[in-house]
Amino acid sequence: MSDALFQVKLKCPVCGESFSTTRVRSSRCAVDRRDSDFCVYYKEHNPIFYEPVVCVRCGYAAMYSSFDEISKEDIRDLLVNIGAKWSPRDFGGERSIQEALDSYKLVLLCSQLRKGVTVGEFAALCMRLAWLNRIKGNREEEKRFLGYALEHYMSVYDTGIMPENMDEVTLIYLIGELNRRVGNGREAVEWFSRAVSHQMSKKKPLIVKMAREQWSLVRNGS
Ligand SMILES: [Zn+2]
Repeated sequence: MSDALFQVKLKCPVCGESFSTTRVRSSRCAVDRRDSDFCVYYKEHNPIFYEPVVCVRCGYAAMYSSFDEISKEDIRDLLVNIGAKWSPRDFGGERSIQEALDSYKLVLLCSQLRKGVTVGEFAALCMRLAWLNRIKGNREEEKRFLGYALEHYMSVYDTGIMPENMDEVTLIYLIGELNRRVGNGREAVEWFSRAVSHQMSKKKPLIVKMAREQWSLVRNGS
């Protein structure tokens, strides 16, 4: 295993099994570039590959930052619906793009079975599945998950409760950009225009610049 990676020991809150998951050293997460929907490319290992944690023994999967945050009711439901059907699989060690995708799909499946997972968390999961498919070169799957992310971010906007690390101008811009990427040009223009004229837009000059740039891309037919 590369020396940029290291192992963390965890105890599964669902079945009690102890196992190791892999992380990327933060000193080795140098950013190479970013796409207009905030997909980040790294010079070495991609830390996004290692955000999902999957229990070897029962298949419970969640994001590393919230792996322990699970209710008794969810534990019972997951043991019946995932644990009973799970064939042991180890996601430790260095992950291929396919293993990263599989680990996110397991997090999505477990999240669908749990109560209290927010629409913002579903949106973030779908974005990551879209990005991983982009990195893999699977355009069809990328577009499918961008569409799901768009639906979820629209619901987030309707609730008026912003997800962690996101403000309203950025959310409006992202809804515009996702519309552009799935081919809804007219809707994209509406959302970019809304981002540019938002009352808080002066506090987000970089996002407003991006909104203007992407808006002109739509005008030029892409
Ligand atoms: Zn477990």
